[in-house]
Amino acid sequence: MSRVAVVTGGTRGIGAAISKALAAEGYKVAAVYAGNDAAAEAFRAETGVSIYKWDVGDAEACAQGLARVAADLGPVDILVNNAGITRDGMFHRMTFDQWREVMRTNLDSMFTMTRPLIEGMRERGFGRIINISSINGQKGQMGQANYSAAKAGVIGFTKALAQENAAKGITVNCICPGYIDTDMVAAVPEEALKKIIATIPTGRLGKAEEVGDLVAFLASDKAAFFTGAVHTVNGGQYIGN
Ligand code: NDP
Repeated sequence: MSRVAVVTGGTRGIGAAISKALAAEGYKVAAVYAGNDAAAEAFRAETGVSIYKWDVGDAEACAQGLARVAADLGPVDILVNNAGITRDGMFHRMTFDQWREVMRTNLDSMFTMTRPLIEGMRERGFGRIINISSINGQKGQMGQANYSAAKAGVIGFTKALAQENAAKGITVNCICPGYIDTDMVAAVPEEALKKIIATIPTGRLGKAEEVGDLVAFLASDKAAFFTGAVHTVNGGQYIGN
């Protein structure tokens, strides 16, 4: 029986590449999205992956959505917490709404998505949880105090959850992508992006598939000894923890 994987933000950008990489390995994939129906429908038509629409910041919506996935596809074995947003601005001009929106989608979602699944994974003695953080959660980024704080929180969450669940066959890992060529990065002004690319030793943006392939490995049986780890995928732009 093939395993079931849930990928949040799984219909666009990095998440779409993750969904595709897992589907290619034979997993039954549920790709969750927030509101871009056109992109989600196009993704389903192209890949045949099942799509589900709910807000990962809404605890009740997550519990109900995950129950629906389990009823449709079976118990969830693999969770990829990938959905994320930016609301950039210098902190001295940042509003509390900008702060809260980013915390809700990028950090609250670690709780709302993982909490309904963790007990079942523990009972079944198997689980793979892969959280998508960011290079900017590792090193901090001017103009992203909210995003850097949330993404650093994802790293701490990963390390704690890994320790709690290692003896139950559940691995918990975190990936910190550098700048990956998606809509999120397309929103960065061209001049700013040129300056960013000049700081990447490989001289290019990353590809979403490069993150997708790492997720597929971390989800596999071969990765059973990898847990609590922070995996950087950044072309050498930042080498640290
Ligand atoms: P995109 O903006 O391209 O896609 C975001 C996806 O997340 C979409 O599918 C979107 O749904 C979904 N989403 C957003 N908010 C919610 C929500 N509240 N509930 C459910 N789904 C939601 O992002 P990327 O692919 O660029 O980024 C993916 C992850 O990787 C994020 O966590 C980001 O922070 C992280 N990251 C990205 C980097 C990059 O360079 N791109 C670098 C480092 C980290 P919809 O289509 O409906 O809007």
